Amino acid sequence: MANKIIEGLWDCPYCDQKGIGGLTKQCPNCGHPQDEGTVFYLPSKKEYLDKETAAMYGKGADWICSFCESLNRYDNEVCSNCGASREDSIGDYFSNKTDDVKEAVAEKDVYGTPSSKPASLPEESDDLLPDQDPDMDTGDHVSADSSSEDKEEPVYKKYQKEARAKKHRESKREAERKREEAQRIRAQKMQSRAKLFAGLGLALIVILVFMFWPRTASGTLESKSWTRDITVEESRTVKEADWSVPEGGRTYESKKELHHYNEVLDHYEPVEVARTRQVPDGFDTSIEYVSNGDGTFTEREVRTPRYRTETYYETVTQPIYRKEAVYQTKYYYEIERWFESRHVTTKGGAENPYWGEPALGEKEKEGKRTETYTLAFKEKRHSYSIEVPLDYWLSLKPGTTVKLTISNGKIIKIDGKEIN
Ligand SMILES: [Zn+2]
Ligand SMILES: [Zn+2]
Repeated sequence: MANKIIEGLWDCPYCDQKGIGGLTKQCPNCGHPQDEGTVFYLPSKKEYLDKETAAMYGKGADWICSFCESLNRYDNEVCSNCGASREDSIGDYFSNKTDDVKEAVAEKDVYGTPSSKPASLPEESDDLLPDQDPDMDTGDHVSADSSSEDKEEPVYKKYQKEARAKKHRESKREAERKREEAQRIRAQKMQSRAKLFAGLGLALIVILVFMFWPRTASGTLESKSWTRDITVEESRTVKEADWSVPEGGRTYESKKELHHYNEVLDHYEPVEVARTRQVPDGFDTSIEYVSNGDGTFTEREVRTPRYRTETYYETVTQPIYRKEAVYQTKYYYEIERWFESRHVTTKGGAENPYWGEPALGEKEKEGKRTETYTLAFKEKRHSYSIEVPLDYWLSLKPGTTVKLTISNGKIIKIDGKEIN
C-alpha cells in the first residue's frame, strides 16, 4: 500500500499568517522560517500528495538548526536559512518541543462519517391543516395556493377544507385550555390537602406534648391494698421418650428409630454447564493521521480487534449425594415431673399483709411467690393508683397528702421521687 501523505498546515506566529502549507518552510508573508515552535495541523480538506512528492516525505522529521532554530528537511546537510552544518543541530521536530506543541503533534484526527444528511424536504402530511392562520387567508388564497395535486379541486371544496381545519384547530385549543384548567385545580387541591395535613400534624404534636408533659398536683392517699400469692406444684408421673434416659426415669421400652439422615456421596454424574467466552469477531477500522515532523501527515488505517461473547457448553462431573438413614435407640420411660397445681392467694386493705398457708400434700411443693402493694390517690377529679415496694407501702398512712407528678395519666413521682 502506497503511503497516503497529506500536506499539513502551520501558522506564522510573527505576522499571524494562517494556514501556510507545511512544505513551505518560510512564511510567504514575512519570511520567518518554520522553527521549534511551529505546530503542524491537518487541513480540513485532506488531499493526498502526488506520488513523486509523497515519495520525498514521511522519511524523517525535520531537524532544528542550532543557530537560527529553523526547521530543515531531514536530508538537508546544511541549514537552508543560515547555512550552518547539520552536525551542530540540536534535535529534530519531535525533540526540544514545549509540552503544548508536543500535545498538538500527538493529536490524531479520525475521519468522521459525513454528518450532514441531505437536507430533507418539509414533511408532507395528509393533514388538511394549512400552515397559515385561517383568519388571514380567505380570499386570495384560492388562486394563490395551487400545488399540482389540488389544481382540479373545486373552489367550494377548498372553503370546506379550511372551515374544517379551523374547527379542528379551535377544538384542539379548547382541549388544551381545559387540560390546563384541570391541572391548575389539581395543584390547588394538592396544596390545600398539604396544608390540612400540616395542620393535623401540628395538632397531634400539641396533644402529645400536653398528654406527656408531666404536671404536679397534690393528692391524698385514699386507700391501700395488697395481694400475695404462693404457687403450689404437684408431682405427677408422665411418659416421655428420648435418645437417653434422664435421672429418675424408669425405662419400660426401647427400640431402634430413625435419628437423622447423612448425606453420602453416591456417584458422579456428567452435567452440561453453559459458559461464556470472548472470541475475536473481526476488526473495527478507523483512520488516523500521524505527523511526520516534516510538514506532512501520514494517513493510517488502525484496526482494533472486536470481540463477541460466545456461549459454549462444558461437561463437568458433579457429585450426586444420597440420604442415608441413621438409626439409634430411643427410650420410652416414666418419670416424675412438677406441674403448677394451685395457688394460695391472700389479699387485703391497709392492714399488714401476710402469706397464706399452703398446707402441702404428699406430692406437693411450694413454687413461685409473688406480691403486689398498691396505693390509690385522689387528686381533685381523678384517681390514680400505683404499685410500690413493700417498705414504701408500709410507710404511708391513708389520708396522707403527697405531691404527685403525673404524665399520660400515670403517677411517675411521689413527693418528687421515683417510686418502684
Ligand atoms: Zn510571517
Ligand atoms: Zn540555521
